[in-house]
Amino acid sequence: MIIQTSDLWKVYRVGVETIYALRGVTIDIDDNEWVAIMGSSGSGKSTFMNILGCLDTPTTGTFLLADHDVSTMSAAELAAVRNKRVGFVFQSFELLPRMTALANVEMPLVYSRTGWRMRRRLATRALERVGLGDRMHHRPNQLSGGQKQRVAIARAILNEPSILLADEPTGNLDSATTREILTLFEQLHDEGQTIVIVTHENDVAEHCHRIIRLADGMVEEDRMNSAPVRMTERAAAPLVAPPTSAGPVGG
Ligand code: ADP
Ligand code: MG
Repeated sequence: MIIQTSDLWKVYRVGVETIYALRGVTIDIDDNEWVAIMGSSGSGKSTFMNILGCLDTPTTGTFLLADHDVSTMSAAELAAVRNKRVGFVFQSFELLPRMTALANVEMPLVYSRTGWRMRRRLATRALERVGLGDRMHHRPNQLSGGQKQRVAIARAILNEPSILLADEPTGNLDSATTREILTLFEQLHDEGQTIVIVTHENDVAEHCHRIIRLADGMVEEDRMNSAPVRMTERAAAPLVAPPTSAGPVGG
């Protein structure tokens, strides 16, 4: 199990007001699941994702990420786990405007001990995996919205995270570009990636294999999608092998 949450509560106090953003969320997510988190605005989706992404901790409750209890970790410990195990993609891409795609993708490794040659090799491979091998030296303003989100996804998968989290990744994209990004998520999922995305679009959620709906900080619905819509035929083998496979898989 990649993710095990048990009775997660998140309580904010703003002045005299108490806001219950999460009220007892218990969800397990298995290896290689592709989950959509849905729910109306204010239902707790981002709060839940931020906890899964080790950007925040619950007020009470436990959260195990790949069997490590992260719910009680310090900020520094949390950052270390986040860098190693989590890839995060945002609606607004969050790219550095003056840097090339390659430099943006390398960013998570700049503060690690990884040497520049290895950084470059890993970033190049991540950009190739998202189909941007020919756009590595472009800056964000020279890229389309879909390409920018691909760069952000390349940055998120650079470290081969246990889990790829995306909070409304297609929220700023038109329908053609949304399909392009869904195709990419589908490819990463086929390659074994565990993915959790927040979306309010049914057209996006129907590609996911499980749909969880939050309401008022609680799980209102949690169901498997037995017939997820696919963008492509299931490939016999990925076009670009994931970094972990040293050679041809199987025998
Ligand atoms: P969603 O992503 O589903 O729109 P959020 O998780 O962002 O919902 O927010 C859930 C609830 O918690 C909302 O009522 C929101 O106003 C509140 N909330 C979120 N973050 C904070 C915060 N930092 N301080 C106070 N209240 C917050
Ligand atoms: Mg939100």
